[in-house]
Amino acid sequence: MNEVTPPKKPLLYYYTLALLGLMLFNFLAMPYLAQRRVQEVDYGTFMEMTEKQEIGQVEVQENQILFTSQDGAQIYKTGLMNDPELIYRLRESGAVFASEIVEEMSPFLSVLLSWVLPILLFVGLGQMMAKRMMNKAGGSNSMMFGMGRSNAKVYVKSSEGIKFSDVAGEDEAKENLTEIVDYLHNPEKYREIGASMPKGILLVGPPGTGKTMLAKAVAGEANVPFFSMSGSEFVEMFVGMGASKVRDLFKQAKEKAPCIVFIDEIDAIGKKRDGQMGGNDEREQTLNQLLTEMDGFEGNTGVIILAATNRPESLDPALTRPGRFDRRVPVELPDLQGREEILKVHAKKIRVDQGVDFRQIARMASGASGAELANIVNEAALRAVRDGRQQATQSDLEESIEVVIAGYQKKNAILTDQEKWTVAYHEIGHALVAAKQSQSAPVQKITIIPRTSGALGYTMQVEEGNRYLMTREEIENKIATYTGGRAAEEVAFGTVSTGAANDIEQATKLARAMVTRYGMSEDFDMVALETVSNQYLGGDASLACSAETQTQVDRQVVELVKKQHEKAAAILRENREKLDRLARFLYERETITGEEFMELLNA
Ligand code: ADP
Repeated sequence: MNEVTPPKKPLLYYYTLALLGLMLFNFLAMPYLAQRRVQEVDYGTFMEMTEKQEIGQVEVQENQILFTSQDGAQIYKTGLMNDPELIYRLRESGAVFASEIVEEMSPFLSVLLSWVLPILLFVGLGQMMAKRMMNKAGGSNSMMFGMGRSNAKVYVKSSEGIKFSDVAGEDEAKENLTEIVDYLHNPEKYREIGASMPKGILLVGPPGTGKTMLAKAVAGEANVPFFSMSGSEFVEMFVGMGASKVRDLFKQAKEKAPCIVFIDEIDAIGKKRDGQMGGNDEREQTLNQLLTEMDGFEGNTGVIILAATNRPESLDPALTRPGRFDRRVPVELPDLQGREEILKVHAKKIRVDQGVDFRQIARMASGASGAELANIVNEAALRAVRDGRQQATQSDLEESIEVVIAGYQKKNAILTDQEKWTVAYHEIGHALVAAKQSQSAPVQKITIIPRTSGALGYTMQVEEGNRYLMTREEIENKIATYTGGRAAEEVAFGTVSTGAANDIEQATKLARAMVTRYGMSEDFDMVALETVSNQYLGGDASLACSAETQTQVDRQVVELVKKQHEKAAAILRENREKLDRLARFLYERETITGEEFMELLNA
């Protein structure tokens, strides 16, 4: 791709140059200026010089005598004495009586000559040079020698541009954007009927779901230039710089219209203005400039602005009102079908075994984003290379999912025998509790090989298809499954270990959500006690209730988890013999598949 970035001129450079020049000037000119100053001598010296005929001009003033050396280069002065014969002696010595000797340069003139003039000179010179360089750089109306220029990356039309077909899944988003492409192809069709395109489109979704790719694909499909800039690049050190960059970006874009302007992470400048003291002036000015620019051009100029964000709730409402970013295109995490397609798109770039079951891989990678799936495929290829094979296989892909989820296998982690037994019972506990409850996702794999992430083992459960809703029973079963590991340790050894820390966290999260968000408790009915502030970035929730209610919530959460923990322990006690047999099997094999597990369980 063809990238054009205007060069930046360091401002400091010019100032340093001017200062150095000034110092040099003063250094050279000072001796001359100093010479013109008047030197005071005593009357004796004056008399002596008169006798030696070393005096050029002389002027007798009311209270002093001024005289020059014979060549006139130096001026002296001395006090007046009662010396009636002075005049004769002077005349004898050949001194010339002058009416006025220019005593010294007036202070004003001296300052003018030594400082003001050179400053003017060098500033002028600096300006001239800056202008020349700017002209060379293609001209700009920006302030301060180009510091406020946008450094938008411009991707000029290119044959290898990204197309919609490169973006797998995300069919709704693509459908939505196809209209934009069509508009860029035949704007007349829309103009005739009087329809104008939305000026701005907001791509909203979690990180790594292909928002940047989609924006590039729109430009690629429409075969128009693509300007891309990240919101954080607008935020500059000096107030007004960001605004100037916005101005510059739109100027460039209008010159190249029709084109796509893509602003990534627009929340960096588009955050709600809070109006508090000490707010970020720079950001606000930048945002205001963006709003002004968006209002300033008609929907038919052919400049279409796409912006991406993963925190839509934090955007300033002024940005999302009609006439600005009035269309919102959700770019969600891919579903099962989408994940399979994304895997296939990326698998085309590497050499894979014919027999790979992408559906299965997609099922295992539930919840993964497009970027993570791309990463999984690449990991598989790297693994194949590491093992000296020509192709990536099913097991490479499966292993790389585990790498992405749980980190690399820790080859030299040394567990004591007792620890290994504990981990084996713990994992079988999860699997057994899951299998003995209805509506639990089937077990895919159980392993007790330690991972670099710190996990000593894990049980992988895989949903059959897409899941959008969970019933109360399903959530409760899930909590029971989380507690199953600890329950197995209790049943088998009568004591517990620290291995359940992560399970405890997950179980608590679910139980809390049941009470505060899903309205699944008797006491609080359908009252929201929590608000989710960041749905795409981890979904952090903040409590919105009184301290008293919080206490009650905590109590209910404890009850919920406790009940499921007891249920899990009961299941394991009932199946004690199966638990022992399966744990021994896992202890010996270290990794077993879901089928092996089910076979032994049903034996
Ligand atoms: P975002 O802008 O949403 O954070 P990107 O568009 O930068 O995500 O995606 C990052 C990478 O993930 C892409 O370069 C691509 O390799 C991969 N990717 C993400 N989504 C998809 C998709 N739907 N189809 C194919 N590849 C994808």
